[in-house]
Amino acid sequence: MTDTHPLPAGLSLEQRASLLSGQDFWTTTALDEAGLPAVVLTDGPHGVRRQEGPFDTIGIHRNVPATCFPPAVAVGSSWDPSVAERIGTAIGREARALGVHVVLGPGVNMKRSPLCGRNFEYYAEDPLLAGVLGAAHVRGQQAEGVGASVKHFAANNQETDRMRVSADVDERTLREVYLPAFERVVTEARPATVMCAYNKVNGVYASQHRWLLTEVLRDEWGFDGVVVSDWGAVDDRVAALAAGLDLQMPGNRGVGDRRVVAAVRAGELDEAFVDVSAARVAGLARFVGAAAGSSGVAGGFDVDAHHALARELAAQCAVLLRNERGTLPLLRDARVVVVGEFARTPRFQGGGSSNVHATRVESALDAVRALAAADVPFTPGFPLDGAGDAAALREEAVALARSAQVAVVFAGQGEAEESEGSDRETLDLPAVQVELIRAVAAVAPRTVVVLSNGGMVSLEGWHDEVDAVLEGFLLGQAGGGALADLLYGVANPSGHLAETIPLRLGDVPSSVDFPGEQGHVRYGEGVLMGYRGFTTLDRPVRYAFGHGLSYTTFTTSDLQVVATGEDTARLSVTVANTGDRAGKHVVQVYVATSAGPVRRPARELRAFTPVVLEPGERRTVTVDLDRRAFAYWDVREGGWVVPPGSYTVQIGASAVDVVASATVTLVGDDLLPALTLDSSVEDWLGHPVVGPDLLEGFAGWLPDLPPPTTAEGLGMLRMVGSMPMRRFVADMGASVPADELDRMVARAATARAERVARP
Ligand code: BGC
Repeated sequence: MTDTHPLPAGLSLEQRASLLSGQDFWTTTALDEAGLPAVVLTDGPHGVRRQEGPFDTIGIHRNVPATCFPPAVAVGSSWDPSVAERIGTAIGREARALGVHVVLGPGVNMKRSPLCGRNFEYYAEDPLLAGVLGAAHVRGQQAEGVGASVKHFAANNQETDRMRVSADVDERTLREVYLPAFERVVTEARPATVMCAYNKVNGVYASQHRWLLTEVLRDEWGFDGVVVSDWGAVDDRVAALAAGLDLQMPGNRGVGDRRVVAAVRAGELDEAFVDVSAARVAGLARFVGAAAGSSGVAGGFDVDAHHALARELAAQCAVLLRNERGTLPLLRDARVVVVGEFARTPRFQGGGSSNVHATRVESALDAVRALAAADVPFTPGFPLDGAGDAAALREEAVALARSAQVAVVFAGQGEAEESEGSDRETLDLPAVQVELIRAVAAVAPRTVVVLSNGGMVSLEGWHDEVDAVLEGFLLGQAGGGALADLLYGVANPSGHLAETIPLRLGDVPSSVDFPGEQGHVRYGEGVLMGYRGFTTLDRPVRYAFGHGLSYTTFTTSDLQVVATGEDTARLSVTVANTGDRAGKHVVQVYVATSAGPVRRPARELRAFTPVVLEPGERRTVTVDLDRRAFAYWDVREGGWVVPPGSYTVQIGASAVDVVASATVTLVGDDLLPALTLDSSVEDWLGHPVVGPDLLEGFAGWLPDLPPPTTAEGLGMLRMVGSMPMRRFVADMGASVPADELDRMVARAATARAERVARP
């Protein structure tokens, strides 16, 4: 099945080219002669941002109210595809009601650094987690007849210099860490569009990167939808079209289209590029029929039901990081005081293009008061904008906290501190908040900290002084209600960290190479990004990827793993709820191995499954691990390889807390390495087909050397083991018959071809 739409014959080159860019900021070009309507695209990803009135470039005009669902930072922490899918569905419904045909999301870029200013729009520091959630979001949204746009393809992992910087990433790292989330979304959920990134990848703009946009995306992954530029990402329109970028957004009054026409007329661009891309863009018209209205007036969706949904889902996203002495959940009649401006003025989404005009906003303070059986006094504790008398506010808070049984402090990042367009410079909470938390904790019998932040914040300097920490991230417009539900145990926390909370910024594997300099950011940590790096390098963290507590307890037992093929396995494991309330547990499956010729991370997340269990309930979960669960990207083979050997399947309570493990031996790929005259002497001698003959031959061809079969001879050969064979023969005076090596190369090639690698 294809998503392209054949164009009628007889259209001029200009008409066809006009489809290749928008007619304004948010719509594609209508072409009456071809019966093609304008298609409306808007942001995304966690709500519909439909601009009212005349569109403008920097969002001066207000947006139509829509539900602000939990942003991706929260959804990532749910580890639950049904949460992502239900959000996708609801956004799809709202988009239809608001006359929007394509909603620009989800964003599945990796959180390479906790400082990335746009991390709130991304799911995780792991590609499997981001890919599964992104695919679920797309499925939900597109099932409602609204196209999705997975973004930003690819290696857009920072905001600093985002329109120009070159992300310099080796291919193995791209394949294993930065591309798989996109690959999964594309292959499993077939999004209508893929949005290219602003940045360059290895020196070439993503918008004109043929390898990315055509060879990988289309030829390898089978994408047949529209590649759309990020807004303003096109540098050279003709090169971009030839590389596979179909639609330039926003429209630039036909400038790009005229360049395309001129290039075709000058014989510099094959006209087929115009036709193929125009047909793809025309294919987006299939979404127009689905939209109910186009007036831009809110309505047509159930505002209350979607707010309630946003609250229900947000409660599944927050992560209970710490809960000493059973401080949480709060008793309804406990004497609670609420401190911190964020309780009254919620932080619930990030700044920039994803900012939704929420239909309503629920504060945690109101929601806490609605649940509590006693009065809940409040004091702001710190000034939000930095102005105001912080000391006086702190003193007020301390006085109030003294009178309480439990002080709940709402802290976090201000909106100005995290937004699209810039990265953060520190992980620290503002000093006034740290001082407040410490001062309150010093006097309150129990202190709970509730955090609101889009990018990860440090807990150092105050963590040990408080009893409980509930990480609320940015939870969308109903986040306040969700936090209250969690604080009082109306909902049981089930979120898990989708990114590491480090002890120090300098421990983060990417930290020396973030955000780069002089136009380049070198991904020097390679595949050891995020928890892959922390675990492999054995660096302690405050809270590991995957960590998250519950008000109930779970046990894991009876892990069994069996091979189901040469490169696949199945595991079963039993999980039980041993506490006294229902809860959602996430089975996190990691694979660890040292098989193969490349350094593998200590462990990698290869599957996960949320399981809802009633008190006392136990369930056996079965998970199939496919080939990719064991593979690495082999740059020499140009493909995925599963080396024969032993693989440890680990169930983790987090990426550092392994609670069960079992080993399986896989036959793996029966690969013979390619052998050329540039292969090393060691490669030659170790080659299973020609190695023994070579060793024998050396006895005659190198008469001055001690026999290579003796320890002495072998030792000498080892000394030159890394020498390319061609040079060894020329420089070491080996009288190897001229065609002998060629014959061996040919034999090795034949043997290699016979052992065809599995795809
Ligand atoms: C952002 C995209 C967004 C687009 C349209 C760009 O600045 O990077 O994520 O979809 O603007 O608003």
